[in-house]
Amino acid sequence: MKILVINSGSSTIKFKLYGAESGGLREEASGIVERIGEEVSYVRYRGRRGEIRYEAKVRDHEEGMAHVLKVLTDPEKGAIADPSEVVGVGHRVVHGGSEVTGAVVADERVERIIEKYSRMAPLHNPANLLGIRAAKKVFPRALHVAVFDTAFHSTIPEEAYLYAIPYEYYLKYGIRRYGFHGISYTYVCRRAAEILGRPLEQLRIIACHLGSGASVAAVKYGRCVDTSMGMTPLEGLVMGTRSGDIDPAIFYFLMKWEGLSADEVYELLNERSGLLGLSGISNDVRVLIEEWRKGNEAAGRALRVFAYRVRKYIGAYMAAMGGVDAIVFTAGIGEQSPLMRKLILSGLEELGIKLDDARNENPAAHGWVISSDDSKVKVLVVPTDEELVIAEETLRKVLELRKG
Ligand code: ADP
Repeated sequence: MKILVINSGSSTIKFKLYGAESGGLREEASGIVERIGEEVSYVRYRGRRGEIRYEAKVRDHEEGMAHVLKVLTDPEKGAIADPSEVVGVGHRVVHGGSEVTGAVVADERVERIIEKYSRMAPLHNPANLLGIRAAKKVFPRALHVAVFDTAFHSTIPEEAYLYAIPYEYYLKYGIRRYGFHGISYTYVCRRAAEILGRPLEQLRIIACHLGSGASVAAVKYGRCVDTSMGMTPLEGLVMGTRSGDIDPAIFYFLMKWEGLSADEVYELLNERSGLLGLSGISNDVRVLIEEWRKGNEAAGRALRVFAYRVRKYIGAYMAAMGGVDAIVFTAGIGEQSPLMRKLILSGLEELGIKLDDARNENPAAHGWVISSDDSKVKVLVVPTDEELVIAEETLRKVLELRKG
């Protein structure tokens, strides 16, 4: 039995194949189809029997998915002999609104939900849906399961998800906080509990997913109670190119003073703000750290604003949960940058949060716990694995349906 995980973007299809064995899921192959719809597209694949790379003309997602099948069934280096070996295909979907609270079979009703929330996630949901429709054609006998980034946050209480605008807009448009990165939070919270050797149900965790998109989640005894991203991924932390929290009146004044349209301000806050906008240099934390070390104050300023915003959310979520037992860092910046972790947590010693510098420099060598022994709050680095969560939930659905 094989489970295929698909992460479909506007011009890419990423995939990972797992073998479902008695001992659990084992990764067997992975790859990507890139630059779909452009002049030249790239197909890359790596399996246990070798690698495949070639260029091709891939006009759309359906053709892209045919290439996924082609490399997976390659007679020499492929991982399966026939598409029917794939019993489940798990699809990553960004926005499921309030209708979805867990993994679901990607039937027509679910396709309509994905379509409905496309207006709140225009860069992601339409591309996710293209992937689902293409995969259904290429793997017609498999069970297709949608796993949503928003689902983890369905436990957030009303006082945390409502915005203080006229209530009718919540009813009319579904304007509320939904939250994202839920698949990653599912994984890292579970792993953190394992590493600490304590049940998730006894832990208050603040999880920081710090990648090019970044958010924080407050997870109280296994249930998410608040998160920093909102109706869309624009709210909350400073990100690579997104502003995160701002005074909403800025939208109005930028339109007036710069003569911009609503679409243009929206684009400015999503694509040209954050670390990139503040520094005027880059959205890449690696580049900014390098520049800061060379004395570039604009880079340092951007990184300090980033770190301060995360620190402020940590304080807020300690208040939201009445305390915290563990702080977890994950994704590109959270996993890879000791400097940013230190900048974020410095000054929190009185709140019981103390980093150990040597552990922070090399978390893997210290069992992923980077707080000092006398730190009341445990601090961990947990490399995320979103594909594994999608594969597990897909397998669970496959087995459920077989039993039922
Ligand atoms: P995505 O959200 O695109 O999946 P990632 O989780 O890979 O992104 O995170 C990308 C971010 O991680 C970038 O800002 C990048 O600069 C940062 N990053 C990656 N490696 C390092 C590193 N060694 N030090 C600091 N930042 C890093």
